[in-house]
Amino acid sequence: APSLDIQQIRQDFPILDQQINNRPLVYLDNAATTQKPRAVIDALTNYYEGYNANIHRGIHHLAEQATAAFEASRRAMQSFLNAEHWQEIIFTYGTTDGINLVAQAYGRRFLNAGDEIIISGMEHHSNIVPWQMLCEERGCVLKVIPVDEQGDLMLDEYDNLLSEKTKLVSVVHASNSLGTVNPVKTIIDKAHAVGAVVLIDGAQSSSHLTVDVQDLDADFFVCSAHKFYGPTGMGVLYGKTALLEAMSPYRGGGEMIREVTFEKTTYNDIPYKFEAGTPNIADVVAVKAAIEYIGQLSKEAISAHELDLLHYATEQLSEIDGLRIIGQAREKIGVVSFVMDGIHHQDMGVILDQQGIAVRTGHHCTMPLMHRFGIAGTTRASFAVYNTKDEIDRLAQGIRRVQKMML
Ligand code: PMP
Repeated sequence: APSLDIQQIRQDFPILDQQINNRPLVYLDNAATTQKPRAVIDALTNYYEGYNANIHRGIHHLAEQATAAFEASRRAMQSFLNAEHWQEIIFTYGTTDGINLVAQAYGRRFLNAGDEIIISGMEHHSNIVPWQMLCEERGCVLKVIPVDEQGDLMLDEYDNLLSEKTKLVSVVHASNSLGTVNPVKTIIDKAHAVGAVVLIDGAQSSSHLTVDVQDLDADFFVCSAHKFYGPTGMGVLYGKTALLEAMSPYRGGGEMIREVTFEKTTYNDIPYKFEAGTPNIADVVAVKAAIEYIGQLSKEAISAHELDLLHYATEQLSEIDGLRIIGQAREKIGVVSFVMDGIHHQDMGVILDQQGIAVRTGHHCTMPLMHRFGIAGTTRASFAVYNTKDEIDRLAQGIRRVQKMML
């Protein structure tokens, strides 16, 4: 991969150039949300200043312009995920919304009492709770692939869980808490062998790894734009055409219908069947700028840079006495989660913030995973394209300062 000029890239992100508590900001909370390049901010402003209008039904100029931009984003997302058809890209409000859509529109229609759903022990709450709700309603059974001490999924246990009762498997591609990259292609193949459909939670992978839904043979793939330099409140559900066509609608309302009478309503074709109401037009339009930004730098180069930071951070943090990294999986994205003897993660986070360093602390919406490791939470540093080794040095110094103050 070509190497990136990180100082140049940092100029593209206006938010990075500021002092927090009289120190230059070190933003290491990218797994929660990434910062936005100027191109994305401009796309939002240009939309509101130049062609804000409601889409699809309008015949006036601005409505046509907004519709064209909205649909251009769908094509951009199609190529970002390498979906075969543009109709397979459903705009949502994010990963959480996409998983709920599948649980409701697929699960309630096709899953019955006694059917089994398999998730993993490292799922985000958004890939646990919608399935629990479905299980409660439909009488299905939730099974969990355990996580080993390194932070890898125990695939032998997965083999044992799979059976003809398995109807759906939903697993995270890359863990937001540990950084683990799961062998989702293998997981998908094995699920297909017993006739189950698979949803991949791509909230983290979409920003750090090249995703090809056709190569993975994923049935559903969900992600959030705000994790890959795009706006908040906007995400995508990819689904295979045949599945999306067979599914019930999710929400009823405008846009998702063909004809409405009081006696009977017929539904629109995909993707519109799943896009009731006025969507988040501005943010959908702006996601195209995020995809182009990533494309221009190249996903491979971004991943290579982040892996370089991951290895450097792992080295630097491992040298600190009393610090233990949680999650040393075979393959990882740029996430380092750690605990420290005698220091609560919350104190760690507050004192790092006093030094201008933004990290996340707590359970990271993965409480069962924290229970697995016998901890209440971690301090997590997570990297994006604009982070530098200098910033990791600042983090390591910052942690040592916390130790000095607290111990
Ligand atoms: N899954 C994973 C792995 C995540 O990291 C996140 C966001 N932290 C989500 C799901 C939920 O994404 P969102 O809040 O954008 O719906």
